[in-house]
Amino acid sequence: MNFEELYQELILDHSRRPRNFGELEGGVHVHGDNPSCGDEIHLHVIFSTDAAGTVTDIRFTGHGCAISQASASMMTAKLKGKSRAEAERLLGLFRERVAGEGEVAEPGPRELGDLNVLSGVRKFPQRVKCAMLSWRAFEQALSESPARVTTEDS
Ligand code: ZN
Repeated sequence: MNFEELYQELILDHSRRPRNFGELEGGVHVHGDNPSCGDEIHLHVIFSTDAAGTVTDIRFTGHGCAISQASASMMTAKLKGKSRAEAERLLGLFRERVAGEGEVAEPGPRELGDLNVLSGVRKFPQRVKCAMLSWRAFEQALSESPARVTTEDS
């Protein structure tokens, strides 16, 4: 499969059969929206209370375009079980990959795996917002104390 086919395949697969779709009791709740496209994400994250701050569970609900939903699905699959430090690193790598300046470097970082295909949106600023929405929500979740439940309405 070439890049374009792989991109289409993964976006379709994850938007039709989203992984980790649903809500969680407790943990951190962040509401993110992307008014320019009409995408909405409710992200629920449970971090372990030890020093590692591991993402022990992560789920989302929402609606919107295929890219926003597929990105959220792929993100939750990637971040589940990762320590806070690993998750922060992945966030940085993904942001650089999708929203960075200049030419995209190939191949992308191995740690990102399938998420590398989302660099396909890089040339389209409106689509970058769609792909980044769930990651922005996760960044917000990281910024809160894991013990607190937060609802951010924007
Ligand atoms: Zn969108």
